[in-house]
Amino acid sequence: MLKWFSADLHIHTVLSPCAELDMGPINIVETAGKLGLDIIGITDHNSAANVAAVMDRAAQKDLVVIGGVEVQTREEVHVLCLFPDLDQLLAYAVFIRERLPRVPNRPEVFGDQVVVNGEEEILYFEKTLLISSVTASLEEVVAEALTYGGLVIPAHVDRPSFSILSNLGFVPPELAVAALEIAWPERMPDILSRYPDLERYCFVSFSDAHSISQLKRGFCTYFYLQEPTFIEIKKALAGHEGRKVVIGPLSEVN
Ligand SMILES: [Zn+2]
Ligand SMILES: [Zn+2]
Repeated sequence: MLKWFSADLHIHTVLSPCAELDMGPINIVETAGKLGLDIIGITDHNSAANVAAVMDRAAQKDLVVIGGVEVQTREEVHVLCLFPDLDQLLAYAVFIRERLPRVPNRPEVFGDQVVVNGEEEILYFEKTLLISSVTASLEEVVAEALTYGGLVIPAHVDRPSFSILSNLGFVPPELAVAALEIAWPERMPDILSRYPDLERYCFVSFSDAHSISQLKRGFCTYFYLQEPTFIEIKKALAGHEGRKVVIGPLSEVN
């Protein structure tokens, strides 16, 4: 039987230099529970080093964690790449790492990049700045993600920077994207009137939270699924076998 699951698949942790230090696994999992989210996605900039910690933490709760990474391509386009399991994700993360310029982070300017475990103990500080563009093109980033069984969602397409529409001006029709993420769903009519070709894409909206307060936004994306798994999410984004996706208001459960 199919039922609705609420999901926020674009969440940063303390590993992203621009994220607040309240974005540790304990806080993220606890807040997701309070918000009634069934599925969360962890997508730090160009790294997946904190995904295992959030998965560890969520294992004690009724919360599904999908592992991913928000890649910044050579064109400065942000894309969410989500994977069926941690092994596939970490293999893909190696590909991204090898293409990340070795620019040292300057914590006093960009913020700390903290790798933690599920108990929020600091394991180490990531020294390479994670918010550079990788040397791989959008096309290469997408193609490689697909070889690891991933699905790709261009992030915040309606934002004026770091988005596929701001930087390329269009979504290349041959690019194998599973959906498009819109930051402000209330602006959907405006986006579709400016870019009528996007009508054929599935749209999702996630928090892109860099702080706990940003997790508590008014809406999220609901997936109509058999069970809250990666494979079911993939089917829903494709509209297969009665699965579907809608953006709707998020109601806090307690
Ligand atoms: Zn982004
Ligand atoms: Zn983001």
